[in-house]
Amino acid sequence: MFVWITMEDLIVIGGGPAGLTAGLYAARSRLKTLLIERLSPGGQVLTTDWVENYPGFPDGLSGFELVERMKTHAEKFGLEILSQEVIGLELSGQEKAVVTDKGSISTRAIILACGAAPHKLGIEGEELLTGKGVSYCATCDGPFYRDYEVALIGGGDTAVEEAIYLTRFASKIHLIHRRNELRAIKLLQDRAMDEEKIEFHWDTIPTKIVGETGVEGVDLKNVKTEKTSYLPVHGVFVFIGYVPNNELVKGLLELDEIGFVLTNDNMETNVPGVFAAGDLRSKLLRQISTAVGEGATAAFAAERYLESSR
Ligand code: NAP
Repeated sequence: MFVWITMEDLIVIGGGPAGLTAGLYAARSRLKTLLIERLSPGGQVLTTDWVENYPGFPDGLSGFELVERMKTHAEKFGLEILSQEVIGLELSGQEKAVVTDKGSISTRAIILACGAAPHKLGIEGEELLTGKGVSYCATCDGPFYRDYEVALIGGGDTAVEEAIYLTRFASKIHLIHRRNELRAIKLLQDRAMDEEKIEFHWDTIPTKIVGETGVEGVDLKNVKTEKTSYLPVHGVFVFIGYVPNNELVKGLLELDEIGFVLTNDNMETNVPGVFAAGDLRSKLLRQISTAVGEGATAAFAAERYLESSR
């Protein structure tokens, strides 16, 4: 391991919409800013086929195009992006350190925009068959299921949006929801109800994903009648919400009961000089538009913090 001798004003961790916006604002304000992202920038938006509620794009655009535009925009103002995995943080004191798999970088402020990851079902067969028929990304894996029947678990906006997307490929989508009404917004509900290829299994949960080297089917249970059944399918898509990517900050920052980072309205965490934005934050609504606003606020608050602590 080697230690960089550079000292950043600000390090942004995570390259989704929150991180890229924070990076854009900070770089445009002439702060010496580095954004660190494990893979390439984009975050969960990359797994979104079509974004139709981001203001300014009335015809919608692909998640890929939106983040490419955000990245180009931030880099235009001088944001430096490093592709490395952050494995540790030193947050106490005015000078902080971000430890990556290649070394350690000093910084005076940090914006955490590490996002969230898909929630797992936690049932038998899920781990074994992940990547072999169990998927958390319809955009990535949908085309593999052309003319096959698939199961899709969940009833929120993501589940319903992705079920509609999968109608392009699958011959049938069995939407399995643990209640008898969807959580998704009415507009998406109406669209899904109009899709002949989507069959709803209400009050139902999966209890086991069956298969050895690939998905063969799902064991189901009706939670009201306790009746069990077997559904033969080639794929299982899971969209049951998200869990925060908080491994780096557990024990270092105040979190809510689920594990999302607590901040005030200025995106300040309980540690001075450390800010959080986007899906990692404890909040009501997780959207690209809310992530973008929080990224901008976090960068502005970080700038004020840096000015006051010089
Ligand atoms: P979500 O709103 O939390 O919905 C999760 C769904 O999974 C719920 O229907 C829930 O059932 C179900 N569920 C949770 N745990 C389960 C389990 N163990 N077994 C079976 N089912 C389970 O998550 P999301 O749909 O991913 O949305 C996350 C956020 O992103 C939301 O704020 C959403 O509005 C937003 N979003 C917006 C858009 C858009 O605007 N186009 C698109 C995608 C997501 P219950 O309903 O019974 O709780």
